[in-house]
Amino acid sequence: MSEYKFFEQVNKAFDKAAAYTKIDKGLLDQMKICNNVLHVTFPIERDNGTIEVIEGWRVEHSHHKLPTKGGIRYSMSVNENETMALAALMTYKCAAVDVPFGGAKGGIKIDKSKYSDREIEKITRRYTYELVRKNFIGPGIDVPAPDYGTGAREMGWILDTYRQITNDINAEGCVTGKPIAQGGIRGRTEATGRGVYFGVREALSNAEDMKELGLEPGIEGKKFVVQGLGNVGYYAAKFMIEGGAVMVGVAEIDASVYNPDGIDLADLMSFKMENGGIKGYDKATTLATNKQVLEMECDILIPAALENQLNEGNAPNIKAKIIAEAANGPTTSEAHTILKEKGALIIPDNYLNAGGVTVSYFEWLKNIQHVRFGRMGKRFEENSYKKILSVIETISERTFSQKELLHLAKGGGEEDLVDSGLEETMITAYNQINEIRKIHNVDLRTGAFISAIEKVGLIYGQMGIFP
Ligand code: GLU
Repeated sequence: MSEYKFFEQVNKAFDKAAAYTKIDKGLLDQMKICNNVLHVTFPIERDNGTIEVIEGWRVEHSHHKLPTKGGIRYSMSVNENETMALAALMTYKCAAVDVPFGGAKGGIKIDKSKYSDREIEKITRRYTYELVRKNFIGPGIDVPAPDYGTGAREMGWILDTYRQITNDINAEGCVTGKPIAQGGIRGRTEATGRGVYFGVREALSNAEDMKELGLEPGIEGKKFVVQGLGNVGYYAAKFMIEGGAVMVGVAEIDASVYNPDGIDLADLMSFKMENGGIKGYDKATTLATNKQVLEMECDILIPAALENQLNEGNAPNIKAKIIAEAANGPTTSEAHTILKEKGALIIPDNYLNAGGVTVSYFEWLKNIQHVRFGRMGKRFEENSYKKILSVIETISERTFSQKELLHLAKGGGEEDLVDSGLEETMITAYNQINEIRKIHNVDLRTGAFISAIEKVGLIYGQMGIFP
């Protein structure tokens, strides 16, 4: 198997798409490179009193829009090349779904399971301190968010540290994915998984495209396999099931399980909580390896873990007709070619997992506006609907029950508005990308890249070179 270099993989996909645009080569080169790469090392004192050196990165890929935006991951696989690739993907992803940020990404090379909560807090705070000192964080500069191995708790520490050492009225906007009490937004935790669901549902609703795949349109009854039951995979699976799909297989770090009749997500999750993994779950067959389930019979395969999961090794055996890339970079370019030749529809990461950053955008807007969505208009809307309903009651002689009134005269609260904004974003972007795919006779990944490159290129083209 060829050596895997993630940033080069992203650029390969970029070059393929760039050939369909009329953008100047110099501008394309500028668009591809990472503007700023920060490598930090710092010591922390461990609980047992020893000193340990920690290594981390923050990469700002493109400043064509500010702030730059992207998650921070805690994993042993973090390195400079990976962080650059993920930062670049953020630029293209934001552009594809019209989220007005440049791309960025950060990472700390640690195995979280080997540190206490106190140590992780120390690492997070010290990393944030480095970012502040180097001018790599701020509501108008660069705004981190959760990614693999991080969540609301870490984002809360980042905000708290930032607030302590800066004097910024917009401090809450320095990071997204925070706990609600610290300025987070309702719906952010579920956002990436929910976005995956909206994207897959939109693809499945296109009767013409489904006919080509030999699938009935609609999500009802579709069988799917998910890799990773972390935040993204869990919520993607949950919304897919609520939408009518059937989960037939799950891959986790310790094992993979398969049951063609369906697996109960809540039951599996409680088994996982109790046993620390899914190995031995007896309402499904445990397969020989933790990746074998990716090759099992299903309509949709949702890789929702790390990059480089579908590769030359397993792609020839994958049976799914739709690959829904919930993770960043799960499919290598070699695997992409193999799957495409087999006729699969790949809904690419640079569109499909944009739900997280889309809702991060809403959170950031809330923070710099200093007002919760819905606070101004919710009651006003409700009163207006009630007036209309009372006119309907008068002219139709029909009276609405209290329950009907509550349902019909509901104003949009924060969660409703976030959901509505997310749904609109995912549907609109899918159809834009699918149209480009058809115009150029390419795949959706190339379509999403063309869409992004054209949008970013337009801005770069008008920016001028200074000095
Ligand atoms: N880490 C997520 C991603 O890769 C979210 C980024 C964000 O919200 O800024 O898209």
